[in-house]
Amino acid sequence: MKSSRRTFVKKSIITASAAAFSPNVLLAATRPVKDKLGVALVGLGYYSTDLIAPGLLNTKHCELKGIVTGSPSKIPIWQQKHSLSDKNIYSYDNYDDISNNPDIDVIYVILPPSMHKEYTVRGAETGKQIWCEKPMAPSVADCQAMIDACNKNKVRLSIGYRCQHDPNIQAYQKVVREQKFGKVKMVNSAAGYLERRTDHWKQQKAMGGGVMGDMGVYAIQGARLATGEEPVSVKAHTSTTRPEIYHEVEETAVYVLEFPSGAMATCQSSFGVNMNHLQVNYEDGWLKMEPHTGYGGNKGSMSDGTKIYTPIDRQQPLQMDDDALAIKNNKPYLTPGEEGLADIRVVEAVLKSGANGGCEVKL
Ligand code: NAD
Repeated sequence: MKSSRRTFVKKSIITASAAAFSPNVLLAATRPVKDKLGVALVGLGYYSTDLIAPGLLNTKHCELKGIVTGSPSKIPIWQQKHSLSDKNIYSYDNYDDISNNPDIDVIYVILPPSMHKEYTVRGAETGKQIWCEKPMAPSVADCQAMIDACNKNKVRLSIGYRCQHDPNIQAYQKVVREQKFGKVKMVNSAAGYLERRTDHWKQQKAMGGGVMGDMGVYAIQGARLATGEEPVSVKAHTSTTRPEIYHEVEETAVYVLEFPSGAMATCQSSFGVNMNHLQVNYEDGWLKMEPHTGYGGNKGSMSDGTKIYTPIDRQQPLQMDDDALAIKNNKPYLTPGEEGLADIRVVEAVLKSGANGGCEVKL
C-alpha cells in the first residue's frame, strides 16, 4: 500500500515536472546511478589525448565512454585505444543525439574557449551533466549564459580547475582559512610558459586566445584563493615581445589586484616566460608554493618551517573523481560555473585596464 502510494507520488512529481522540464531532463532524472559515470569528451586535442583520456584510466567513479569529434581520422585510433563502441561516437553535427544515450552521463567540453558556450549550452539541453575546461569562456556574458542554460535544464556545470582538487593546493587554502599567520598583506602570483606555437587558437582573438584566459586564470586563482576574497580594483599592463605572433591578443600581462581587506596582489601571466609560483605575505609570516599549478609535484613552504608536499601523480583523476562523486551523491561541486565566471570577471577587467593605459578598473 505504502509503496504504491510512493510510486504514485513519484510518478505525480515526474508528471508535474514534465510541464516544466524538457523530456531529456526527465529522462536523466529517472536514470539509475551507476558505479562509474560514463564521460564523453568533446574535442580530442592535446588536453583530451594526453591528460584527460589517460586520467580516466585511473578514476574510480567515472570512465571514458564516448567521444565527439570533427576529425574522422581520429575515430579508429580512439576506438581501438579506449574500446569505444560505434554508438558512442559523435560528430559536432549529431552531438545533440547524446541525449538518447544511457552510456553517457557527463559531457566534458575540451575545445578552444570560444566554443565552450555553444557546446555547454547544447550539452545542457541533452540533460547530461556538464564539465567544461578553463577558461570557462571569453566573456562574463558567455559564462552567465552557460550557467543559465545548465540551471534551466537542471544539470550542473563544473569547470576543470584541476589545481583545486590537489591536496597541496587544498593545504594552503587551509592555512588561509585558519589565518595561521594572521591577515594577508601581499600576494605575488605568477603563471607562464614559453609558448612556441605561432598559429594556434592561443594566438587568435576570435577563438578565445590570449594569455589571460590561459595562464591568467591560474595567477588570478592564486590571488583569489590566497586572500579568500574577490578583488575590487584592477590595474594592468599588457604587452608582447613577439608582435609578429601576438598581434591579436596579449602575450604578457602584469597586473595589480586590490582586495576589500586592503590586501594587494601583483600578478604576472605570460606566453613568453616560464614562471609558476605563489608567494603570500601575512601579518606574521609567509607561505610560498613553487611550483604552484603543475599537473603534479606542487609543493610549498612556510615561514615557521612547515612544508607542504603530498606527492601525487596527476591532478586530473582526482578532479574527475571528485566531480563524479559530487554528481552521484548530489553534493556541490568544488569548482562550479560561478568559480569560472569569477575569474573571467577579473580577466575582463585586466584586459580593459591594459587596453586603456593601465587605468584603474573597479569591480
Ligand atoms: P588543442 O588545440 O590541442 O585542441 C583543441 C581541439 O578542438 C582539437 O581537437 C581541435 O580539432 C578541436 N577544434 C574544433 N573546432 C576547432 C576550431 N574551430 N579551431 C581549433 N580547434 C578546433 O587545445 P587543448 O590544449 O587541448 O585545449 C582545449 C581546452 O582545454 C582549452 O580550453 C584549454 O584551455 C584547456 N586546457 C586545459 C588545461 C588544464 O591544465 N586544465 C591544459 C591544456 C588545455
